Amino acid sequence: MNTRNILLVEDEQPIREMVVFALTNAGYEVYQAADARQAQVCIAECLPDLILLDWMLPGISGIDYARRLKKDELTRELPIIMLTARAEEEDKVQGLESGADDYVTKPFSPRELVARIRAVLRRGGPAGEDEILRANGLTLDLASHRVSVGETLLEIGPTEYRLLEFFMSHLERVYSRGQLLDRVWGSNVYVEERTVDVHIRRLRKTLEPHGFDALIQTVRGSGYRFSTRI
Ligand code: CA
Repeated sequence: MNTRNILLVEDEQPIREMVVFALTNAGYEVYQAADARQAQVCIAECLPDLILLDWMLPGISGIDYARRLKKDELTRELPIIMLTARAEEEDKVQGLESGADDYVTKPFSPRELVARIRAVLRRGGPAGEDEILRANGLTLDLASHRVSVGETLLEIGPTEYRLLEFFMSHLERVYSRGQLLDRVWGSNVYVEERTVDVHIRRLRKTLEPHGFDALIQTVRGSGYRFSTRI
């Protein structure tokens, strides 16, 4: 199973250090940014599965940055947890309205933070090896590596399986061919980008008899998205 990447956007170094320590211990890969501009660079490079976003940042505030991320098709589905020093109810509402999935009020315990991260990631993907991923009528069993529709087992190649597992645990998000190569094939492997298209085509063919090929959507100029909204 993939390691989950977390991007921490926080200008205060002591807090960054504390969070990095806690999350690394919990098994996450943590990337750091001190402001929104650095975060924007990192998003393209580190492909986070979740963003921890401080409310009070120099330059663009966390709230405004969250709104921006939710407007961009490439990052719309990226879960955000706001870190805030403000406990007032009004601010929380504003934070959630900006598109944040959850918020954690400072000071927080590392344990609480990890629990919130797990909860938010669980909504968007697998939490353990023994889980079953579902999308509409399509079922993927992470333990047995079986893909089925109702009682029917699908014959699926190993690469198509990994591609489908990645898609089904990252619903609704757009990935470029290069990003899919990194996440599904691994960043140390040299494969041409058109290889992705070949396997997408095979995967669609596997899903086609059951009408699920339409779940894999081509996003013009960007890449692919697995969407249950068809
Ligand atoms: Ca701050």
